[in-house]
Amino acid sequence: MGDVQEQGESSAKRIKCSIEEAAFCCGECNEPLRPPIFQCPEGHMICSPCRGDLPEEKCTFGYSVRCTAGNLARSLSVEHAVESILVDCHYAENGCTENTAYYYHVKHRLMCPHAPCECPEPGCDLAGKRGELLDHLTAVAGLHKWPSTTFQYWVPFDLRIVEPGTHVLRCKNDGQLFLVS
Ligand SMILES: [Zn+2]
Ligand SMILES: [Zn+2]
Ligand SMILES: [Zn+2]
Ligand SMILES: [Zn+2]
Repeated sequence: MGDVQEQGESSAKRIKCSIEEAAFCCGECNEPLRPPIFQCPEGHMICSPCRGDLPEEKCTFGYSVRCTAGNLARSLSVEHAVESILVDCHYAENGCTENTAYYYHVKHRLMCPHAPCECPEPGCDLAGKRGELLDHLTAVAGLHKWPSTTFQYWVPFDLRIVEPGTHVLRCKNDGQLFLVS
């Protein structure tokens, strides 16, 4: 819990709970809501970009029929609720200790360095963490023995070191792996 408190702005006491994944999703685009958040008198919640697309600021709540409940207004209470939610990483069991804002957790899941990676070689069914994949692809005693090069974003490097065939490029900044063929 100490980690959780350090990430928030306040030292408010926190409790663990679980919520429906879609509990705070936009009624129009179904993406997790991030402030500013708008609500109609019926309680339909809409994200800011979707609100901009709605004629006369009346929600449709995912249907083609326009909601007749009235105009959308900003909902500070929903914004407060959403901002107070921190989501444990989907890959916590793989060792990820990140907990992210509700509206960021799907993005984190897609980028999480602890997410399982599959070997791209046809016929090879290895699935493991990214660190394990690097070993699997490049180890001299491994199955593929592909050459690898470490690079940094925005720092030029000599492409002539990239050998013909498959070559693994490993980014020093974020650990991402790229296969060049
Ligand atoms: Zn939306
Ligand atoms: Zn509505
Ligand atoms: Zn993670
Ligand atoms: Zn493989």
